[in-house]
Amino acid sequence: HLGNETIKAELGRASWKLFHTILARYPEKPTAEEREALSSYIYLFSRVYPCGECASHFQKILKKFPPQTSSRIAASQWGCHVHNQVNSRLGKKIFDCNMIAEKYQCGCADDGDDGAT
Ligand code: FAD
Repeated sequence: HLGNETIKAELGRASWKLFHTILARYPEKPTAEEREALSSYIYLFSRVYPCGECASHFQKILKKFPPQTSSRIAASQWGCHVHNQVNSRLGKKIFDCNMIAEKYQCGCADDGDDGAT
């Protein structure tokens, strides 16, 4: 049982890392297509997430707080907020959303602030 909890937590950390990194790299001025892609991705993610209890709870959070796709800041702040909803349900510390831009970098080649050294 402890093993399962450990695996679930590791999956969660990996998933949140990808989730926040995608939002941190989302366009500042997205096109209608980019907005649709992000929104679809998030809803599909909530359906295919392999921890069933987590997925059904996350779907309820999405009903209450639909994905914000109008800009990078809107999307990344929204992502921080919904992760905090999960944190609060699990009795974890609330994350300071002002720290989001520094924390999630992608190491991508196409910009100068990617954290690559
Ligand atoms: P995590 O919550 O995994 O966070 C990883 C790191 O991200 C933190 O150390 C911190 O540096 C940073 N972080 C924390 N909060 C934020 C934030 N708001 N914004 C940005 N960065 C932040 N587990 C369950 O047991 N039950 C569930 O119902 C459940 N639902 C989940 C739903 C989803 C969609 C996901 C992705 C995961 C879910 N999990 C659930 C897993 C759970 O959220 C954690 O990932 C897991 O418990 C490990 O927690 P952690 O304390 O290592 O930090």
